[in-house]
Amino acid sequence: MSEHRSPAQPDPFPTAVATFRAVQPPLKKPVQFVKGVGPRRAQQLARLGIATVEDLLYHIPFRYQDRRQIKKIRDLAIGEEGATVGQLVRMGRRFMTRSRRWVLEGVVRDETGFLFLLWYHQHRYFEQRYRPGQRVLLYGKVELGLKGGKWMIHPDIEVVEEEEETARILPVYNKTTEMTVATMRRLVHGAVTDYVALVPNGVPAEISARLGLMDLKDALRYLHMPPLDADVAALNSAASPAHKTVVFDELFYLQLGMALRRRHLVKEEGVSLVPGPLVKRLYEVLPFRLTNAQERVLEDIFRDMAAPHPMNRLVQGDVGSGKTIVAFCAALAALDSGYQVAFMAPTELLAEQHFRTLGPLADQLMVSVALLTGEVKSRRKQELYTAIAEGKVEIVVGTHALIQEGVRFRRLGLAIVDEQHRFGVMQRAALKKLGVNPDMLLMTATPIPRTLALTLYGDLDVSVIDELPPGRKPVVTRVFHEGERQKAYRLVKEQLDRGRQAYVVYPLVEESEKSELKAATSMARELSRTFFAQYSVGLIHGRMKGEEKDEVMRRFKNGEYQLLVSTTVIEVGIDVPNATVILIEHAERFGLAQLHQLRGRVGRGAAESFCFLLAQYTPADEAHRRLRVMVETHDGFKIAEADLAFRGPGEFLGTRQSGLPDFRVANIVRDSRILEIARAEAEAWLARDPELTSPASRRLRTILEDRWAGRLELARVG
Ligand code: ADP
Ligand code: MG
Repeated sequence: MSEHRSPAQPDPFPTAVATFRAVQPPLKKPVQFVKGVGPRRAQQLARLGIATVEDLLYHIPFRYQDRRQIKKIRDLAIGEEGATVGQLVRMGRRFMTRSRRWVLEGVVRDETGFLFLLWYHQHRYFEQRYRPGQRVLLYGKVELGLKGGKWMIHPDIEVVEEEEETARILPVYNKTTEMTVATMRRLVHGAVTDYVALVPNGVPAEISARLGLMDLKDALRYLHMPPLDADVAALNSAASPAHKTVVFDELFYLQLGMALRRRHLVKEEGVSLVPGPLVKRLYEVLPFRLTNAQERVLEDIFRDMAAPHPMNRLVQGDVGSGKTIVAFCAALAALDSGYQVAFMAPTELLAEQHFRTLGPLADQLMVSVALLTGEVKSRRKQELYTAIAEGKVEIVVGTHALIQEGVRFRRLGLAIVDEQHRFGVMQRAALKKLGVNPDMLLMTATPIPRTLALTLYGDLDVSVIDELPPGRKPVVTRVFHEGERQKAYRLVKEQLDRGRQAYVVYPLVEESEKSELKAATSMARELSRTFFAQYSVGLIHGRMKGEEKDEVMRRFKNGEYQLLVSTTVIEVGIDVPNATVILIEHAERFGLAQLHQLRGRVGRGAAESFCFLLAQYTPADEAHRRLRVMVETHDGFKIAEADLAFRGPGEFLGTRQSGLPDFRVANIVRDSRILEIARAEAEAWLARDPELTSPASRRLRTILEDRWAGRLELARVG
């Protein structure tokens, strides 16, 4: 990643890295150095993302079993989890006539009675590994058999050696299918025994004393080998002091890196762009007045742009809050100062739509705007490249095509990224590279809960458009069970009969785009033959060529199609005010944030609009509870909070995309309080020692660079 550093930005920690590598190599060694890990195990571990010794040390148990009380079989309580030790006296398969399937049964005996074991799956595995005569330790829920007797179904089972200490709190790890929990435990313990002492204590002593944190290596040891007097409930809810220590350590360095980036950024030199006559003219020709929120956000933007440092501002605004026009105002300010603008959108559909929206306005203002997507033919493309390089094109709206070979700007002053969460960090960095420290304006319609914003955008300035243009009504949202399909269809019809238009959206049904295509295609065909036979039905999907998509969208916009069957390509940004109803198939497969985006496709005009969620669920399902959130609120921020809580941060945005160091232990939903504290502590530390030059900061720098592994530079554009 370091090749993306521009010469203007010196590596903040060159010497620190060298020191770190010299001091800490053992933890960075391949995991194969750990006792018991051969090439085969190393491969298996790699699939869990464990590559180094350190990775294995940070492979924290996800659960703990309380085996401090090994009970006699007689004392095992029905309906409760328990542990016992006994001798395996029988092991064999049996055909169950009633359910017509094979099962594996075992019998264990101690001096007080018998315990029966049952496996429905993996017979071979257990049969080969556990044989009559062995002393085994069992852990599981105890159930009463149909004909009496105590049973454990799919118990945790382990052979016990004579000398082994059996009474303890046992960590349970994530593992691959090829290894047993016991194997994973053995490997991790090997790493702990030989390497944990080398883990440097990262958090300054003064802070950890004040917050009551443990020594980092003690905390790791505690998590892998809890002492007998540990609080198992606290361990299982990740609330133990050891958890807090490891989580704080992780989040402290995250926030320290973020804060440092912010500070470095402020010092960089950039262009100073000031709004002038073009911006003024735009206000005159706009068919509406900007909302207060739009104006406030523009003030933030103009202030940043005027400053002689690069802007790094993220504009969050719910769907339909009017981000495009705000971006256009910013663009004109750049033009007013004699600079060019790049405006990047994630899909061709969206880039084209922006181009069409901005085109007429640009014509009125006599500003030249061009569209650059993958669809542009190569001859035309060459002409465009030349025009951009000569500065004849002032605003280039485009897709990824913008950052491909051959695009050179004469003087890029502002780079705008719409729906920025759809781009990877590298792509945003590449866009920035098209100029010399241009101002960056990032826009997103995915409202980010505060904890996540602190994490993802801790190094950005954030403005929120928290107001919709006047006259919008909330979209009436209803959840329909699969069995109520006809009813939902009738309601869609009702809208069509009033001259309105409708979307029917299909999710990515399976992994492959092909089947997604098939689902939407056959759906379109079926609907146009059956229920919606007397209406005109269009189809749009991601596999179509840009021109085809464009044509379909144009027809839908013109009202030639009344119903548009679509895959999620319509998700972002599409604006057709006469569409008043959207029916979403398999709504349970979408994230809430995505549903919210889709719902934002309607309710863009003055008429009452509807969103119907067709889903497969049982009343007890989490899916149903999730979908109820959509019915109950229209606030994108609340929906995002709920989504984050339901799905967890990884799925919510995908940490891989975000360019953040992956979290090893922290969970920003669960640990949001610790996150806030870590942020405050990091800020306070930097306030006293902004360059991390004091002796107490020395180690901080080395660890910091290690944790961020070169990503401090990149994180600033994302
Ligand atoms: P989003 O924030 O979702 O990208 P858009 O920029 O596409 O929203 O704007 C949605 C619609 O609202 C567009 O049709 C746009 O012309 C309109 N719009 C934007 N700002 C205003 C405003 N201040 N008053 C009225 N309509 C507006
Ligand atoms: Mg938009």
